[in-house]
Amino acid sequence: MGKMTPDTREQEGVLAGTPDWQPPVTGTGTFSRLPRCPEFGLGEVDLAILGIPWDGLVTYRPGARFGPQAIRQASIACRSYSQAMKVDVFKNLKSVDAGDVDVSIFDFEETFSRIETRVAELQQAGAAVVSIGGDHSVLLPILRATSAKHRQLTLIHIDAHTDTSDTGGNPPHHHGTCIRDAIEEGLIKGERIFQIGIRGSFGDAEYLAYGEQSGINLLDMHDFHDPARKAEFTARLRETAGEGPCYLTFDIDGVDPAFAPGTGTPVPGGLSSFEAIDFLYDLRGLNFVGGDVVEVAPVYDIETQITSLLAASIVLQIAALVAIGKPLSKS
Ligand code: MN
Ligand code: MN
Repeated sequence: MGKMTPDTREQEGVLAGTPDWQPPVTGTGTFSRLPRCPEFGLGEVDLAILGIPWDGLVTYRPGARFGPQAIRQASIACRSYSQAMKVDVFKNLKSVDAGDVDVSIFDFEETFSRIETRVAELQQAGAAVVSIGGDHSVLLPILRATSAKHRQLTLIHIDAHTDTSDTGGNPPHHHGTCIRDAIEEGLIKGERIFQIGIRGSFGDAEYLAYGEQSGINLLDMHDFHDPARKAEFTARLRETAGEGPCYLTFDIDGVDPAFAPGTGTPVPGGLSSFEAIDFLYDLRGLNFVGGDVVEVAPVYDIETQITSLLAASIVLQIAALVAIGKPLSKS
């Protein structure tokens, strides 16, 4: 057997202690040691992990620009087989780490344009794109690309915040406006948006009213703990999505800061790690065409890297949802 390299996934099944076993602390440069995406000749790629190291539009604590590398580092502890989803993600999906978007740190318009271009390029090559952010403003350019390729998207949005803030155009966007922006641009209809984990205080009651008027489906934290309401919400989500394309955007602050302290805008009273991952299991079988995990700011992750580890686990579960969902358009 040849020497193992970080670009090889053949180490699966190689026993610890044998000469070819690769210790977990080596080869940590890409997500779950996936091969790096070649600059050209993408070929038949099913899944691309894309880093977006951008936090230029946060309203409170910065640091999400360091999310992608921290999540990659933590991902080494998440292996390929999802026990709950009963799928070996990277055996079922030809997967690559597509590196980072080349962000322009002082220019959000240029950065948005580069994000949209890169996501579209990977999607054109046939890949489901799972992005690792980055602040939540990156969702807007991701949805510009994704909604152009996949009509009638259903958006599943886990977050403490509704992200329906209104800035009156000054500034034009920030990380708390991405959902309103997507609706206003006509990228997605409110009735096809499902928000989970919402709680806490808001800058303005109008932000919530806007969601209601737009038809956004909301499962706040109180209702999340009401089994009947949760079941009704999930059933409505499934009925709305049908066989159509679904996209999952996961703001890590949807999870309680006791479990995920490494984020810029923490809000008490959120999901536990188990509740967050278990909710993803309830989405099995929907036709997921992509997703993201955003707002991971490792500098607040104390010494445990617990938030990055949770984020990496969520990325793997999103990939599992892609793997067990309907076949992608190219197949
Ligand atoms: Mn949030
Ligand atoms: Mn958010």
